[in-house]
Amino acid sequence: MRELFKTRAKLREFVNIAPGDQNAQVLFEQRYGPMFHGCEPQDYYVQAAKFRQAWTVKEPEDREQVSRNLEEIFAQERPLGWGTLAMNMVQVNFGDHEYPIEIRPRNMLDELAFTLLVSADSLGICENPECPAKYFVAAHHKQRYCSYDCADTSRKQAKLEWWRENRQGQAKPQRRKKGRKTQ
Ligand SMILES: [Zn+2]
Repeated sequence: MRELFKTRAKLREFVNIAPGDQNAQVLFEQRYGPMFHGCEPQDYYVQAAKFRQAWTVKEPEDREQVSRNLEEIFAQERPLGWGTLAMNMVQVNFGDHEYPIEIRPRNMLDELAFTLLVSADSLGICENPECPAKYFVAAHHKQRYCSYDCADTSRKQAKLEWWRENRQGQAKPQRRKKGRKTQ
């Protein structure tokens, strides 16, 4: 659980790398290491854009497209990113009744793809228009904002707009107190 929480944070950072955003790409690689051995900045932009399609799935065809994108990642053979044990994606554990077959990520791109797969029902787009990283993995259903800060910013913004609209043209702002009953 804890692991998943961590990889979800990583996934979120990854999916918010915009095309050509060198800053975000470099930061990501500095923080987590290379996505796979020998990868280029271009690989981050291309994969992040493909991952983002999962956030905007509407039609069955969109879902199909995301599935094929992920399949492509798992089917690809590339030089190792992690230790030799992670060389094969499928590990067989004869005699282990709980996990007779394990599927293991070979490198970070595999790991990100697995995390995306198990997070399919939790993908959200932050409703704060100024959110710096609007694609997020929700901790619970119906989460509209990626963070407390974004929810708070939007609440303040809405208040301010309401105030501007309602004050305009009024010489004296009227104050009505709700919920106070005279007895
Ligand atoms: Zn946000």
